[in-house]
Amino acid sequence: MRHVKFPTAPGRSFSSALLVLAALLAFTPASLSAADHKVFALCYHSFLGNKFPSDIPLEEFRSQMAFLKSRGFGFVSYADLVNGTVSGTRNILVVIDDGNHSVLRAYREVMKPMGIRPLLAVYPNVIGRKSYALTWEQLDGLRKGGCDIAAHGYYHELMNREFYERDPRQFVREIARSKETLEEKLPGLKVSAFVYPNGVRADITKKVLREEGYACAFTINWGATVSPLARNRDVLELPRYMVMKGNWNMISSAILKASAG
Ligand SMILES: [Zn+2]
Repeated sequence: MRHVKFPTAPGRSFSSALLVLAALLAFTPASLSAADHKVFALCYHSFLGNKFPSDIPLEEFRSQMAFLKSRGFGFVSYADLVNGTVSGTRNILVVIDDGNHSVLRAYREVMKPMGIRPLLAVYPNVIGRKSYALTWEQLDGLRKGGCDIAAHGYYHELMNREFYERDPRQFVREIARSKETLEEKLPGLKVSAFVYPNGVRADITKKVLREEGYACAFTINWGATVSPLARNRDVLELPRYMVMKGNWNMISSAILKASAG
């Protein structure tokens, strides 16, 4: 758009500009194929303001979301992605891993007011058992308030080939039991997404995910997710950008660039 030169003849520039604009608007929908609908998934962990590299202070998180909004991005939910009701290239899906209790405040004070419905990737072993984690009641409240829930293993094991070879039964349980427990503790929930702990996976992991009824899985490799989901290269390797202390400038420029292309 910035390369378009408007005619400068006095009195005609405004109407010419309108004509150019109308032509661009008419052209845009036709030039977008389904493959062009893009979602950028961001991965967060906690919003405590502590020293951990994966922790993003709440005010910083708020300004990151505001920045994306100011650049024309909208926020979509995991349900939107699954239902294929996403359009355009400037869509953000917020994914928050692990079930830290700081999600509660972040949802109440930042996400809900901005219309952000995050996907919470949870491993049941810590829920209601560790002081840093959400309780089942809190998780259920978040779900009823508009958050989606994904499985993130049961014990947060690294789902690599070595784990499978060491203990195939436990490997399968890690995948099956996370979904089963979430669905049992949160009645009415149907878990269809898996989020690989630390992004670690192997071909056998994907095979077991398919057998256990998962529809898709998220990594921490950078890139755009395409909507509808079936158009992705591999639905069991959907990309995400893991936001850490100090990498926001790199991530936001990468997303801006990818959303324009
Ligand atoms: Zn994790």
